[in-house]
Amino acid sequence: MLPQVADDAIDRSLRELTLEAGEAPGKTRHIAVDADIGDALAAWLEREHPGKPDLLICDNNTRSAAAERLAARLQLAGRRSQLLTLPAQEGEDHVVCDDGIIEALTTMLREHPDANAIAVGSGTINDVVKMATFKLGRSYQCVATAASMNGYTSAIAAVLSRGVKRTLPAQQAEAVFADTDVIQRAPAYLNRAGFGDLLSKPYSNADWLLSHFVRGVNFEERPAKLLDEAYEALLGKAAAIGRGEAAGIGTLTRTILLSGFTMAIAGTSAPASGGEHLVSHYWDMEQHGREEPLFGLHGTQVGVATRISAMLFERLVALDVDDLDIDAAVARKPDASGLEQLESRHERLQPDVIEEVRAQITAKQKHGEALRQELTALRDRWPEIRDALRAILIPSARIGEVLIAAGAADRPSAIGVQREHAVRTVRVCREIRSRYVALDLIDDLGFLEPWSAEVIEAVERS
Ligand SMILES: [Zn+2]
Repeated sequence: MLPQVADDAIDRSLRELTLEAGEAPGKTRHIAVDADIGDALAAWLEREHPGKPDLLICDNNTRSAAAERLAARLQLAGRRSQLLTLPAQEGEDHVVCDDGIIEALTTMLREHPDANAIAVGSGTINDVVKMATFKLGRSYQCVATAASMNGYTSAIAAVLSRGVKRTLPAQQAEAVFADTDVIQRAPAYLNRAGFGDLLSKPYSNADWLLSHFVRGVNFEERPAKLLDEAYEALLGKAAAIGRGEAAGIGTLTRTILLSGFTMAIAGTSAPASGGEHLVSHYWDMEQHGREEPLFGLHGTQVGVATRISAMLFERLVALDVDDLDIDAAVARKPDASGLEQLESRHERLQPDVIEEVRAQITAKQKHGEALRQELTALRDRWPEIRDALRAILIPSARIGEVLIAAGAADRPSAIGVQREHAVRTVRVCREIRSRYVALDLIDDLGFLEPWSAEVIEAVERS
């Protein structure tokens, strides 16, 4: 498909989705992707929110990258627009989306009851404004300054809440203005991170579909397939994205917006967040607990983890019915006593965080006869399940290639995670979230221990 054709197709999907949103609160009903969105933003605000003041919420970086200029532009158009710069928390060099800052912004917004809250930024700023306005029952608008993650049009937010990285229910931005000039000028590692975050799609979907087969979780075709075309176009533009070329950034930005919608439509992050995300979340939780800097941006880590996930899935779908040894599985997990030793499995997590992990894994782990029943049902349908997964997956080698083409990290050691650490992460990260993923099945079948070591070895060696 020609590059422009792909962008047009994505634009058509985005238009359809915003039209479907209608006037429903908490949904994205307007999207503009353009080289300079200042006038479009002013015109839309005048039309939709005439006479209301604008509060452009930014941090120090996005203030100079976009917010100051936009405020001046809006004032020129006759609007009362002012900046609100969020400060980095003590000991941090950038704003972190945690309970404290959400509470602080909520208080500030109460003092401006009729203002448009306009997030000018990417991951963190968007999540902070999204959560604060959601708590207040108000809508918000967003000016995207980097294509670093897919949260602009999602109805959830990633919040560091009481030490645990949580995905909390929230709302979509009412309108998203993506200025491709600003996004193109954003630091390359931000847009490469967005690319890494999006790479997970086939594997997130495979996890989601597997949970449907094994646990009866609701699986929907539409959000699962919505990104198919865009995903192919995105892989084809990996090098252009890495070099920050307009054609690559345009497709990346559109795909980021479409990806957020897949989660909003599904009513769960499952279409864009599977086992690979648990690897990234786990590293964040460890580093926060130890008050150490993160290994990388969310999407940078997800890109690396996606390559690992891809290899694990390849091994899983290569299994034959005869390889599924249910007696051995039940013998390994006869009861819940295996969950008593969590402290030694999560050495770098704080005690209160381990208790939260205990609750999550206890909610999904089956033992004894319940495990036998589940695995027997799976074995009876294994050829069908395996084929369905194969139809979604793409080869792990392709993921490795596009990560390199985009100039993104392609292995744990490239972001400072040592081999043994990476192996341990793959073995235990499934325990932090109660959602069933392939890592759970692989562990139940007794393969997670050996495969994690083999896969990390392969990833680091290549
Ligand atoms: Zn993500």
